[in-house]
Amino acid sequence: MAKNGVLVVTGGSRGIGAAVSLLAAERGFAVVVNYASNVAAAEHVTAQILAKGGEAIAVRGDVSQREDVEHIFAAADRLGKVTGLVNNAGMTDRASRVEDMTAERINRVLAVNVTGSFLCAAAAVKRMSTRHGGTGGAIVNLASGASKLGGPGTFVDYAAAKGAIDSFTIGLALEVAGEGVRVNSVRPGLIDTEFHDLTGDPDRVAKLVSGVPIPRAGTALEVAYAILWLLSPEAAYSTGTTITVSGGRAI
Ligand code: NAP
Repeated sequence: MAKNGVLVVTGGSRGIGAAVSLLAAERGFAVVVNYASNVAAAEHVTAQILAKGGEAIAVRGDVSQREDVEHIFAAADRLGKVTGLVNNAGMTDRASRVEDMTAERINRVLAVNVTGSFLCAAAAVKRMSTRHGGTGGAIVNLASGASKLGGPGTFVDYAAAKGAIDSFTIGLALEVAGEGVRVNSVRPGLIDTEFHDLTGDPDRVAKLVSGVPIPRAGTALEVAYAILWLLSPEAAYSTGTTITVSGGRAI
């Protein structure tokens, strides 16, 4: 049994989630590496963890679907006691103005980024909260600088979804603060992952980097360090707050 219990990382197979999964395993968590469709990427992460003597399983599941979330957490229960959740799974769609967005697109962006975070947090709270017989734990949500910048001409729907995550972090944190569960978020700026390919512009990161005071994109690992700190006992008195990892960009 891993010394820090089981950490569920949604979207733990690529980008920031993969960096969190690998670092969490090094820090003594057994890791549930959730993914939506790319099984090879997920198994690449779990193989690296297992090769170093850690514990991890890859679990497919769409976080926006309640049955899938139940499946993810049932797998976590089989691994051990759930002590943490990183609500990392997120997506956007191709760059678009608001008047060109379909209801289907908007609903999907909100379902994955917002509903998915609510459903996973609910499953985690049912296991970790002292109200439900648990012994406590921590949740970290992935916010985004987009909630402050708005994503004009590109992804206002995604930016609005991340605005919802800002409110969700505060509200859930206050709801469970007396129950041994801390809820915080990390707000990344421009991080070099495959996420940006979803907008349809392969040069997106290079184009935006000139607006960053530390003149480069951040790495997934640099975001993971902040997430792991919020999960750790060193953050025992921090809840309902946000760490911005943006290279100095004011977001
Ligand atoms: P990424 O490289 O595109 O990886 C996305 C991950 O989420 C993949 O593991 C993917 O799995 C998974 N995923 C997508 N939809 C899912 C669903 N419905 N259910 C379960 N898993 C799903 O993204 P990233 O850049 O690491 O971003 C991670 C988080 O940070 C997101 O919440 C994003 O909004 C946030 N963020 C990123 C940046 C940035 O600059 N990159 C900035 C601010 C905030 P599959 O491979 O199987 O599809």
